[in-house]
Amino acid sequence: MLKEIGFKEDQRDQKETRVLELMELMAAQDQAMAGLTERLQEQDELVGRRSKEVEEQVAKLQKELAVLEKQRQELRKGVPAQLLKRYEFIRQRRNGTAISPVSDGVCFGCHMNILPQQFIDLQKGVEIIQCPHCQRILYWQEEALEEGISQGAS
Ligand SMILES: [Zn+2]
Repeated sequence: MLKEIGFKEDQRDQKETRVLELMELMAAQDQAMAGLTERLQEQDELVGRRSKEVEEQVAKLQKELAVLEKQRQELRKGVPAQLLKRYEFIRQRRNGTAISPVSDGVCFGCHMNILPQQFIDLQKGVEIIQCPHCQRILYWQEEALEEGISQGAS
């Protein structure tokens, strides 16, 4: 009888010990979860701040774009329709750049030499000249010390 009681008490002790162990484990988990929750909140805040920065940047760029678009519309009014059509045609095929400077006879759009006669004509500034290689509309990039030639805007 006593033996049996002793055994039962023993069992109860074991049970309590196990419950305590489990509770300790749970407490440790609670702590770990609290730590993770805190980190998660930090990351959330970071994402919130970053996305706000990005949104502000996007808004700023959209505003700049709208200004440029408006300027563009104004500038287009001064260009003959036929030339504008050609310009748009080239722009679509040349990654958005339809106009290229030429310096020393080289088109900066494709880095190829244009024809010598074209270069002469370009410097005269009388007609619209296109690069024979990339078809971009060319303008002469007058270099500062080039033979002291100074040409008025055409
Ligand atoms: Zn070219």
